[in-house]
Amino acid sequence: MATASFTKKSLGLESIEPAVTPPPANSTTTFVKKPKLSSSKSKKKEIPEGLWVKCPKCSTMLYDKELDENLKVCQHCQHHFPIGARERIHSLVETCSFEEMDAQMTSMDPLQFPSYLDKVSSYQKSTGFKDAVITGVGKIGPHKVALGVMDFSFLGGSMGSVVGEKLTRLIENATARNLPVIIISTSGGARMYEGMFSLMQMAKTCGALAYLSKSRLPYISILTHPTYAGVMASFASVGDLILSEPGAMIGFAGPRVIKDTTQSELPSGFQTAEFLLEHGLIDSIVPRKEMKDRLVFYLDFMLQTEKQSAAPAV
Ligand SMILES: [Zn+2]
Repeated sequence: MATASFTKKSLGLESIEPAVTPPPANSTTTFVKKPKLSSSKSKKKEIPEGLWVKCPKCSTMLYDKELDENLKVCQHCQHHFPIGARERIHSLVETCSFEEMDAQMTSMDPLQFPSYLDKVSSYQKSTGFKDAVITGVGKIGPHKVALGVMDFSFLGGSMGSVVGEKLTRLIENATARNLPVIIISTSGGARMYEGMFSLMQMAKTCGALAYLSKSRLPYISILTHPTYAGVMASFASVGDLILSEPGAMIGFAGPRVIKDTTQSELPSGFQTAEFLLEHGLIDSIVPRKEMKDRLVFYLDFMLQTEKQSAAPAV
């Protein structure tokens, strides 16, 4: 009996055997791509995908979770990876202190630019934002501040009517409530889908900042990688204090355009934060992990100075 049952089993296995045999190297059938014996191999393949990131500066493989815990800064070479607006706000403000403003404001299509609204809608779905900036009021250390944070992942952080209007409302709100303003920029420039309406935001934001300045309230501009064109040529470059993250690329036109136009070699490190610090555009380069403490330090000083200088005038 025993012999008979063994024979049956082995016969059964033998009938399956040819199918399990590894396929020829160039086979394309779906069956041979997923052999039964490959469960351990497929696990090995799954683990690295999406969990490890290669640092573009030092080429070290970084564990995604550790990178997030380190505010997206490489532990080995201090390369600053892009970080989302919400993560950045979370890293700066006191827990539960941030009240967002105009969260539902969304773009119109004043020029009826082909497929513009479809584009906006798909970015809204993929990012969870309505446009490229988040604005609101929150506390950084003991200081209540009006905070605007741009996000490059929404249409390259471009400034259209919504970005301009949200920032203007933020600045006007701060002026009315006697609050300092901090704007963290990252942008490719004005949003060309909105043509002249985008360019008008440059004057509008700067106009609001002029009123803020008249009220003797400080404005700190923080430049992150990359900040270019219409944003750099307006509110990003007129801070009472201009800070930057290390290695950020900052400018008006890109280096290739300038090289082609001027027909000359550009100096090394051209348009990096370090180059601009050396040439006087930026006041200080602040690593992301130190940003909150440094902001508290600067606000302590600036708000105290404002109070002292405002007192005799009143
Ligand atoms: Zn690195």
